[in-house]
Amino acid sequence: MKASAQRAARFWKELLEEVVRPSVIVGFEDYYRRLSSWVIGHTQDFGAELLEESGLAVLARLDPSRYLSKSPEIRLDLELARLSSVAPKSMESVAMALSETLLDMVTVWSARDCPNCGGPMRIMVALSDDARRLFLRCRDCSHEEWEDFSRVETRVRRVLPATRGDVTGLHRAHAASEDRMAMEARVRGEAISDSFWDIIRRAEMRSDRLKRILWEMPEDEVARFHEEFVRASSVLRGSPFDAILDEAVSEDTLMDIAYWVVAQGREFYEGVLEHPNRIPRHVKGGDPAVMHHVAVEVFDERFGKELDFF
Ligand SMILES: [Zn+2]
Repeated sequence: MKASAQRAARFWKELLEEVVRPSVIVGFEDYYRRLSSWVIGHTQDFGAELLEESGLAVLARLDPSRYLSKSPEIRLDLELARLSSVAPKSMESVAMALSETLLDMVTVWSARDCPNCGGPMRIMVALSDDARRLFLRCRDCSHEEWEDFSRVETRVRRVLPATRGDVTGLHRAHAASEDRMAMEARVRGEAISDSFWDIIRRAEMRSDRLKRILWEMPEDEVARFHEEFVRASSVLRGSPFDAILDEAVSEDTLMDIAYWVVAQGREFYEGVLEHPNRIPRHVKGGDPAVMHHVAVEVFDERFGKELDFF
């Protein structure tokens, strides 16, 4: 075993014996305090940088009477067994395991699952010089998003766990706005006719097939198809989808994504309206399902007329 691994193992054993084993009966608040003061007492061993990097610098200084979650998802009677099985091989792993343990005790979990991996998301507060802003951070992957679902572009550095007070307003606003937006989107989506979806189904996500189908149709029906295509896709370009597809997505990409979703057919399209987070984040250039130009082409080549793109 390398010296650093031996040191981490010794350190961990000491923690288990001195803090965790006698903590079984003290309750979460005392357990939190004991772990915190042990961390602070070993500042030299961790080093300031590691404490900062792992989040321990902040977590070890929180007041558990204010931050402790109502029902932490760990069990004190199983804590010794759980942490004994961790067996960290470096001081970095010691710091991460401690950081997660403390964080789990103070986390207020979001009702929303991670759109990236389905994992649970913690509600956190991002601190800047003049503002506190809530965001969600996935426990299992690196996904982070602001409370309006827009993606956090640069990893937030100065962070506090949210308290129940921070969150009360958020949850209400979240639930209400998500419901309302999904409902509005659905209502707008329902204005699309069955015959439109039938054409989309027969086109099998391929612009060449769609062209053959439209070629056989009378002028007014092609125009109607086009109008419905534009309407169905425009639903996907407004709220909440514009917030979900981060600012990095250009207006053109946003439209291609919307057209692509419509081309997948009714079931997929309505699934996205119902669960806005299912909207794809990008579409390959030249994907045959990007078929919005087809009606315009048919109008031009067959009827010798122009059809507005939008
Ligand atoms: Zn995730």
